[in-house]
Amino acid sequence: MRGTDKLFPPVAAAAELLAQHASTLKLRIQITDTLRTNAEQRALYAHSREPADKVNALRKAAGMPAVAPAEAAAWRTDASDATRSYHGYGLAFDWVLLDAQGRASYDTKADTNMDGQKDWYQVAGLTRFIPGLESGAYWSSKPDLPHCQMTFGLTPADLRAGHRPPGWKEWVLAARPPIDIQ
Ligand SMILES: [Zn+2]
Repeated sequence: MRGTDKLFPPVAAAAELLAQHASTLKLRIQITDTLRTNAEQRALYAHSREPADKVNALRKAAGMPAVAPAEAAAWRTDASDATRSYHGYGLAFDWVLLDAQGRASYDTKADTNMDGQKDWYQVAGLTRFIPGLESGAYWSSKPDLPHCQMTFGLTPADLRAGHRPPGWKEWVLAARPPIDIQ
């Protein structure tokens, strides 16, 4: 789902800061994906693993729009359900570069601000100015360029074992995000 209001507040603040830093380089981004339900995570996991009709059936069940076969065949995640992704806990978001017309651009070679650098990597590089924010662009295996997360020192196994960042449980009680983790 979209909306930084569904993220754990320190992560929402980091997402907003990333967009602000990008705008100082005359780059525009949009946050496309924040908190994920189990149904959403399962649909994304099916990408590249299941035929397009199965992917789209899972996407429909999760309330997500259908995709073309090429996108259904593209790898999206190695997390088979929401408990295995930082997205499931409101600790991760994905972003997309916007072109001059304000349309999403997945062209990772785009240079919309015409400074001779690839915009996608410029924005990913800005994460190092935001304490605690990690970009998936720098992962050695399966880099995930649109993905950013804040782990608070917790691995996915720690999260599955019930550990949470300080203030997380209070946030869930107060803000009641549409979270699917039991
Ligand atoms: Zn992500």
